[in-house]
Amino acid sequence: MTTPIYLDHLASTPLAPGVLDAMLPWLSAAAVGNPHAAHRPGWRAAEAIEAARAEVAALVGAPPGAVLFTSGATEANTLALLGAVPPGGACVLSAVEHASALGCAPELRRRGHPVTVLPVDGDGRVDPDRLAATLARLPTPALVSIMAANNEVGTRQPLAELAAVTRARGGRFHSDAAQAAGWGMVDATGLGLDLVSLSGHKLGGPMGIGALVIGDGGMGDGVALRPPSPGGGQQRGLRPGTLPTALCVGFGVACRLARSHAAADARRVAGLRDRLWARLSAALPGLRRNGAPDGLPGCLSVTLPGLDAADLLLGLPDLAAATGSACHSDAAEPSHVLRALGRSAEEAHGTLRFGLGRTTTAEEVERAADWVIAAIGDGTADTLRDILPARASSPTPRKG
Ligand code: PMP
Repeated sequence: MTTPIYLDHLASTPLAPGVLDAMLPWLSAAAVGNPHAAHRPGWRAAEAIEAARAEVAALVGAPPGAVLFTSGATEANTLALLGAVPPGGACVLSAVEHASALGCAPELRRRGHPVTVLPVDGDGRVDPDRLAATLARLPTPALVSIMAANNEVGTRQPLAELAAVTRARGGRFHSDAAQAAGWGMVDATGLGLDLVSLSGHKLGGPMGIGALVIGDGGMGDGVALRPPSPGGGQQRGLRPGTLPTALCVGFGVACRLARSHAAADARRVAGLRDRLWARLSAALPGLRRNGAPDGLPGCLSVTLPGLDAADLLLGLPDLAAATGSACHSDAAEPSHVLRALGRSAEEAHGTLRFGLGRTTTAEEVERAADWVIAAIGDGTADTLRDILPARASSPTPRKG
């Protein structure tokens, strides 16, 4: 039987070693206790949650009190955008934000907040001068939301400059750091960020937990966040609801591990990503890389015009990779990120996204490259028969 290769870490990462063991006791009957209850079992759970909160905060250089646990980055983005936009003020987002952020635009407009979506360059980067010009045209300070690194093409944004430009205009800066934080790339205080979104399952933690980190962006005063729900007083009423002890604990452990290994892991994984690109680009003439090469260590997005990427992956069911964004894989339309980078609908259709992670091995990268090159060479993807009629069959055996 073929051993599957998991190269979809941008969609979800496996639990880091030690995370499950740390969580399990909190799922046992012996650990019963609402962390918000005033008795010893409740206090024990609350203590574990506060320790986890401190680990999450440390990963992004923020004080523990700045962390609000949420169900994930989707909820954190929604909370930031709908809850921190100044009353009557505008909101500015980039065209490559995650769907959970861009999807807030209609609701913001409905509530009377003008929304501007900034274009990006061919690598997916926002120009700070363009942001400055946009903010200068707005009559009141705005909430600006620009992600730290993109989940489809890996490009990192110049966060310090973008946050400084926003601050100079009296605005607030939110960054979706779901992908970047696990690589130790986000220092909320050093970068001057007011709000940061995090996701547990993108950095070795469990699904169903994330955080909105509320800093002061260097302005010395906290962001005024309007709670989404009028009821419930947990987490200062800003994000009410009983906290899931086991999930918070697992997220905290994952953040601690990510912080201690980030630099070494990033170097190793970036080396594997570059090796994959070298293999694929040497074997597949016309292959193009999407996004800036110094982006997320584990992200490799490539386009082969004419390729049916979905077809290719259907023929390689033991290779877990994505076409564009996994979050969009059930939607037929081309990825909004690739379109924003200037790729055509056809090019988006011919795009594969590999997400390498901490558990990825050199041997897996070689095998994945063999499979993809062989599948394309053999014309596994139907459309390739038309566009690559002369391509020699690869000597590498195709997986069965
Ligand atoms: N933002 C980014 C950049 C992401 O990659 C994702 C996950 N695809 C999310 C937000 C949503 O995160 P979650 O699954 O925790 O809701």
